[in-house]
Amino acid sequence: MPTPQIPGLSAQQSQQARDLLDVILLTAATISNGDEGTRRRVLGFLRNRLKVHLDGISAPEKVKLTAELRERQGNECPVCKKQMSLDPDEVEKHRTNRGQGYANPNTIQLRCRACHRDEHKTERWS
Ligand SMILES: [Zn+2]
Ligand SMILES: [Zn+2]
Repeated sequence: MPTPQIPGLSAQQSQQARDLLDVILLTAATISNGDEGTRRRVLGFLRNRLKVHLDGISAPEKVKLTAELRERQGNECPVCKKQMSLDPDEVEKHRTNRGQGYANPNTIQLRCRACHRDEHKTERWS
């Protein structure tokens, strides 16, 4: 079965990225030695570190950023103009400058989860 190309990568780069994933999963299995909890913790650690690399911001900084954005927007969703839920899971960050991470707060807006999902429904998720 031919492996589908990853968007933005050449066929060779896509294959190398998939090989890297295989190595990571194999190594995680070796480290955890059959213990599923350990395997999940290893992969969870990697996920968090990778997110910091992609977003340019750590988890505590993100919490702080969310609080700043809520205040700046008066806790109002720019799409539906309603007050946003206080539940962090119901609120998402929309980047007006796509693909640039979270380094510049001026390019980020908080939106209700539903409004945000709706907006990106027709596009490739990023
Ligand atoms: Zn909304
Ligand atoms: Zn968005």
